[in-house]
Amino acid sequence: MKKDPKVIIIGLDAATWTLIRPWMAEGGMPNLAKLMNAGVSGTLQSVLPPITPPAWTSFMTGKNPGKHGVFHFIETAPDRYAMNYANGGSRRSPTVWRILNAAGLSVGTMNVPFTYPPEALDGFQISGLDTPSANSSFVHPPALKRELVDYLGKINHDVRFLGFMSTDHRRAQVLAEMEKIDQQWAAVALYLLEHHPQDVMMFVFMSIDTVQHYFWQYMDRSHFLYDPKAEPRFGNAVRQVYERLDAVTGRIIEKLPNDTTVLVVSDHGGGPVVDRTLFLNRYLHQLGLLQYHKKGSGGRQGRSGLRKLKLKILRGAYSFLRNSLSSRQKSRLAEIFPTLRKKAELAYTSFVDIDWGSTKAFCSEVLASPPNVWINLKGIKPAGIVEPAEYSALTDFIIEKLRELKDPRTGKPIIARVYRRDELFHGPFSNEAADLIVDWWSEDSLFSTAPSLAKDRDKPAVIISEHRPSEDSVWGGTHRRDGILVASGPALKRGAEIENAQLIDLAPTLLHLFGVAVPKDMDGRVLADAFRPEFLAAHPVKAGAASGISESDRSTGYTEEESAKVEERLQALGYLE
Ligand SMILES: [Zn+2]
Repeated sequence: MKKDPKVIIIGLDAATWTLIRPWMAEGGMPNLAKLMNAGVSGTLQSVLPPITPPAWTSFMTGKNPGKHGVFHFIETAPDRYAMNYANGGSRRSPTVWRILNAAGLSVGTMNVPFTYPPEALDGFQISGLDTPSANSSFVHPPALKRELVDYLGKINHDVRFLGFMSTDHRRAQVLAEMEKIDQQWAAVALYLLEHHPQDVMMFVFMSIDTVQHYFWQYMDRSHFLYDPKAEPRFGNAVRQVYERLDAVTGRIIEKLPNDTTVLVVSDHGGGPVVDRTLFLNRYLHQLGLLQYHKKGSGGRQGRSGLRKLKLKILRGAYSFLRNSLSSRQKSRLAEIFPTLRKKAELAYTSFVDIDWGSTKAFCSEVLASPPNVWINLKGIKPAGIVEPAEYSALTDFIIEKLRELKDPRTGKPIIARVYRRDELFHGPFSNEAADLIVDWWSEDSLFSTAPSLAKDRDKPAVIISEHRPSEDSVWGGTHRRDGILVASGPALKRGAEIENAQLIDLAPTLLHLFGVAVPKDMDGRVLADAFRPEFLAAHPVKAGAASGISESDRSTGYTEEESAKVEERLQALGYLE
């Protein structure tokens, strides 16, 4: 007997009200507008820092990253300074999907980031962006993958050329691929609704995030990368993606019985990149906290010697990455760092020039470089020199110095807030986070970072980028904390706005919709404001036993074959000989 889905969640990665509201006022996004009128809506605060891996993982667990262990695309390795790539296997807390399954409800999820390898759910799971390749086992049950491929063709997660958009032609190609991938996922979602309905189903679309990163500058006349000549061609690129996914949302809703609860959520918002770049390791060097090797020491003189060394480093680094880096992550990196090859070389080169034995603090600049500061702590890091007794004063000093960084034009501080990790994270895995997390997502604390080369150690730590259109692929947009929430269903209020909703509240709220007890170790709360008072009165929130921690699946993330695929791609890109 065919079952009717009871709750449908549509994930629009990076969707933001700052764009949607004005478009809605002009009559755009009609399906989302209809859903808002029929239900509740509001801002959805993401986790900090508001990036995709911890955000969706917190959504799925109802917990802060200290309790699930996913902080970024990368994670520390215990015996080295370099970092590994994380995936869904790094999550160490049970998901809300498992809890729903245990309560007798079936669950199907499609393309949720950081769900690779897929969980063996009662229902199905199709992994998201951390999927290594189209040939990986990214669907549970495996027979469903064969069925989808038979009916709909090969499933692709990747948009190619992201790092190589040096011409209008390639930019147009990327937009066309984004559309193809959206239509593919829309077709998969509709097929699953028709042929594999589950009590709870979730469908995620990633292209808003991608298009905002690469095309924000074309719609924003005040942007430092604004290109008046390209505006006619790409000025509408971002809005077109929003409108397309609004139409997909409409097509999904059309298929549903009237009493289905529908949620539309984003894992964080988006906004423009600004023209300030901070060289964090350079600054730490200038503060006397990070030292580079003396030039010419250790037999590293001469061009060919240096070149050989660089190649060796690249090779060594990639051979350790081989076991953890997926092709999908690689293309995600191309997204993070548009000129990946150049940046990777720069990053490795700069990182290897650090003299660990006399360095107290550093930013990890290996490939993906979040503006975080790590303390070179004795007993924790391989060549740690900072005594535990010195930790507190040292971090105080760095926080103070980071807040002294000024925009050279206005004299105003660039960084408004620096968090110690225990201010943001609590739980058994908190100590895997960076020691200091620098706010780059708030309107009063906006900047980019770039790798610091040893040879440029005395140049200014903050530079202002030239205001002119860029010829290469660069990020014109980045993330902001506030995402979106729209929800409509029989238990929910109509046409109401809700305040202070957080991404971590959705797992408890989802459980409460089914009358399932909320594990007491979830950090989120049931969004009581969203429910009709009658429903709440009849269904008081139930607290349940802690969901606890679950075993890490890290060692089984990638197969030999997948690793070989990755190596092939790296070779094609010229990283490996
Ligand atoms: Zn995201």
